[in-house]
Amino acid sequence: MTPPSLRSPTGIPTAALLLLLAAGPGVASEADDRARQEAAVRQLVGEATLSRWGYDKLRELCDTIGHRLAGSPAMARAVDWSEAAMREAGLSNVHREPARVTDWTRGPESARIVSPIEKELTMLGLGRSVSTPPGGITAAVVVVRSFDELNALGTAGVAGRIVLFDYEWTGYSAASEFRTNGASKAAALGAVAVLCRSATGRSQDTPHTGRLVYAKTPAAALSVESAGLIRRLAAAGTPVTVHLAMDHHVGEKRDCHNVLGEVVGRERPEEIVLVNGHLDSWDVGQGAQDDGIGCLIMLEAARLIRNLPVPPRRTVRVVFFTDEEISGGGTDSYLRHHGHEIPRHVAGFESDAGGEVATGLVVDVRGVAVLRDSLGTMVTTADTLRPFVEAVALRKQVQSALADWSWALAPLGATTFKPGGSGVDIDELCKWGMLGFGLAHPTDTDYFDYHHSPADTFDRVDAKKLARNAAIAAVAIYLVADAPDRLLPWPARTEPPPPTPTGAR
Ligand SMILES: [Zn+2]
Repeated sequence: MTPPSLRSPTGIPTAALLLLLAAGPGVASEADDRARQEAAVRQLVGEATLSRWGYDKLRELCDTIGHRLAGSPAMARAVDWSEAAMREAGLSNVHREPARVTDWTRGPESARIVSPIEKELTMLGLGRSVSTPPGGITAAVVVVRSFDELNALGTAGVAGRIVLFDYEWTGYSAASEFRTNGASKAAALGAVAVLCRSATGRSQDTPHTGRLVYAKTPAAALSVESAGLIRRLAAAGTPVTVHLAMDHHVGEKRDCHNVLGEVVGRERPEEIVLVNGHLDSWDVGQGAQDDGIGCLIMLEAARLIRNLPVPPRRTVRVVFFTDEEISGGGTDSYLRHHGHEIPRHVAGFESDAGGEVATGLVVDVRGVAVLRDSLGTMVTTADTLRPFVEAVALRKQVQSALADWSWALAPLGATTFKPGGSGVDIDELCKWGMLGFGLAHPTDTDYFDYHHSPADTFDRVDAKKLARNAAIAAVAIYLVADAPDRLLPWPARTEPPPPTPTGAR
């Protein structure tokens, strides 16, 4: 071990540094790179730790605009606000790009048990649900715990009834299946409406909404408590009848906008590191954790990178996607405007999983490894195992690059390397070959206690955690954007061309 006195400010032993310098310009510039990157990381972490900029901007977004359903007037104000915030952060090329989003607006809605007791239920209609007929629907409820139970009942047990999915909570992805697909599956068996236990592990009688796959039957989420009451009454052998009334506006598409800004790269400005969150939220709460905080973690990270004396080699592009929740219109717009640039996207970083302190990175190499046809669906080849073998090899390549950066990431506690999807907004880009990153949060996060509910408010945001996540994001984004070589080459194999922009506007 080199005594501290023999170490250069770069952390590289002085003798080794002299040798490196004597070895020639290529090696010397590697040492220069490392010294510059170490100084940059020190600055990023130092400023992130002291900064309250991201926290204050999130408060402003939540308290002065509030929830922001894609296509709503509040969202239009949030787009104006985002452009101003990106300019305040010092970003270049700040602009908006048009998107088309599904027009769905919640109207008056209610649900109540009418027999064997009279009891108002705590509910929220599911996003994109159709309305009930005027006057509502009154029908007997059949309670199921699973899709298997639903199918076992068949048309004879389901037709003409309201189906309640009151499943056992084992985590968000299993629970959201009922919310997403429950209505269409129950409708296929003749259900007149669908109720769904909210997708949350803990509840204080808070209903959680979310998107469903279109169905002809109206569907609503019930709080865990309301769903439990119906289940217990039914289990006691008493037929339960519920009245459900929802009057939602469902229209054609509406105009909305993604918002973009950049820190322009110094050597390869045409190469892009995409960093993003989604600006829209559900129409309840303040959209603080989902996903105001993701937007502000990423904008704060870009602002800190913008403050560096030497910009990274590549361009850092911040995108606030306009429609993750309702219809994915933000991603569609980005592909329309930038699909032809995908080979120049060296990586994407998404933050859309709440504010708990990240322990590392989620890494998505699926699209880099898997051959896809022109519609983006996976191609089955004679050698079907090959893409998966390649994915493992590519993942190892990324893992080893991140291990080389442990000098920067380990002091932030960000050493977890988790294969998985990086986020919904950039999922399509990852399928087309972009390397994707997300922040890896602990599995016991309280994110799903709040998300998609009236409880998703600013007062549950922790300033210190936001600053720590911004530091981790800033360091990881900077290192990827400043690396002499791409982490993974493009194309990793013979790829079909990425989607070309059609009718970009
Ligand atoms: Zn989200």
